[in-house]
Amino acid sequence: MAKQPMLKFITVSRDMPEKRLPNLRREDFNEIYAEYADEKAKEQSSRCSQCGVPYCQTHCPLHNNIPDWLRLTAEGRLKEAYEVSQATNTFPEICGRICPQDRLCEGNCVIEQSGHGTVTIGSVEKYITDTAWEKGWVQPISPRAERSESVGIIGAGPGGLAAADVLRRQGVQVTIYDRYDRAGGLLTYGIPGFKLEKDVVMRRNDQLAQGGVKFELNCDVGVDISFADIRAKHDAVIVATGVYKTREIQAPGVGGVGLERAIDFLTVSNRKSFGDTVEEFESGRFNAHGKKVVVIGGGDTAMDCVRTSIRQGATSVKCLYRRDRANMPGSQREVQNAEEEGVVFEWLSAPKGFVGDPVTGVMVQKMRLGAPDATGRQAPEVIEGADYVEEADLVIMALGFEPEDLPTLWNTPELPVNRWGTIKADYITGATELDGVYAVGDIVRGASLVVWAIKDGRDCAQAILEKMGAMTAVAAE
Ligand SMILES: Cc1cc2nc3c(=O)[nH]c(=O)nc-3n(C[C@H](O)[C@H](O)[C@H](O)COP(=O)(O)OP(=O)(O)OC[C@H]3O[C@@H](n4cnc5c(N)ncnc54)[C@H](O)[C@@H]3O)c2cc1C
Ligand code: SF4
Repeated sequence: MAKQPMLKFITVSRDMPEKRLPNLRREDFNEIYAEYADEKAKEQSSRCSQCGVPYCQTHCPLHNNIPDWLRLTAEGRLKEAYEVSQATNTFPEICGRICPQDRLCEGNCVIEQSGHGTVTIGSVEKYITDTAWEKGWVQPISPRAERSESVGIIGAGPGGLAAADVLRRQGVQVTIYDRYDRAGGLLTYGIPGFKLEKDVVMRRNDQLAQGGVKFELNCDVGVDISFADIRAKHDAVIVATGVYKTREIQAPGVGGVGLERAIDFLTVSNRKSFGDTVEEFESGRFNAHGKKVVVIGGGDTAMDCVRTSIRQGATSVKCLYRRDRANMPGSQREVQNAEEEGVVFEWLSAPKGFVGDPVTGVMVQKMRLGAPDATGRQAPEVIEGADYVEEADLVIMALGFEPEDLPTLWNTPELPVNRWGTIKADYITGATELDGVYAVGDIVRGASLVVWAIKDGRDCAQAILEKMGAMTAVAAE
């Protein structure tokens, strides 16, 4: 009888890939986790209990067939594991790196709930597709036949790229317009290399370009080309522009020198990682070297800013967040990584104003958590008489993002948006009320996650294909 390769969670402990030591991590922008060795990936996959109702799969936004690719990996059938994994996910190696697995697939792993420690799903997913790249199994798209219909996609982030991939596989003509000089959206210019190395994103962009996806970069829609022109050129248009307007605070001292927006700081730093010469970095404006840095916010963006500042050689890095650790929106794993690298978190602390111009400090007011608000979340309340000044010569605001005013910027008042400015679109198909216009990713959901943008892009592309009568081909793939 064949040996049972699975259900080893009782005898095999959870083991993440090795994490580089903090003092080494602080020195560069390379990823902090090593790759699994082949045997380790097999061993860790073999811990899966192959549940009849896999909650990991239910809680993965893409409904990845996780138990199947874990079993195939445990059996050493890696090429098949790759094929199963990529059937539902355009970028498995990217999700494996940056999904908050503790809140999604791994957070719902049954063996975790029985106290054995979750299967390391994300790390195995990354390992499978990194291996596929290494072995040459990831090939450019080569549709069986070309179709005459064309789709224009505005925004080359994960939502737009995932839609392009699915459409192109069926031979649809796809052009992606993006205002940046490189494709990838926040994968390229938001998320730092220590979470997602840049060549991992660039090889995907190249793969799509080699498969016939056309990129019109440095093309700001609404400035370089109108939305109406794009609609006229294509049979369908997908809006995948993300959310880029930074939430501001109103406080004394706002507007002074040394107060910067997180997205600008991270974009400059990511450009440096590509080897670009960036004037705002060379001038010192977006360089934390030798500075006391204070980052305001408690989400993923704030975590990326504090850890970038450490790598740039800041003298000290503090993160102010108005709630406590348990109530922050950012990933607990990233907080731990940041603490290991030397970041100090000031929980229950909110900015009241800024001292000096150029800035020399942040006026901080201490908070406590009061009664739950309408959403059930405990609202922070000020503790009177506990204010103090936190010294700072670079303050980075990471208070979240909102959509830009697309109807005005694009001179398209008929584009349906809700009161927050996000586009009103069907959550499954991405269809808007405008004929042939679809929307996916953050511009529909508000600031969200890469995996949700991929899901939206994939599902929207399938809906468009269905409308084109190309769904039979998708089903046969
Ligand atoms: C700093 C930071 C860290 C994050 N970390 C994580 C993480 O660890 N894990 C995770 O899952 N998610 C993370 N996120 C969230 C994630 O990056 C987003 O949810 C995801 O990228 C959204 O994808 P998208 O395709 O909708 O938009 P985006 O990735 O924002 O891409 C939109 C693209 O549209 C282009 N564009 C916008 N307007 C125009 C225009 N008028 N004309 C032409 N092009 C235009 C932009 O240049 C951009 O390339 C992070 C976000 C930030 C800001
Ligand atoms: S895509 Fe994200 S949530 Fe889904 S299996 Fe991979 S890491 Fe988990």
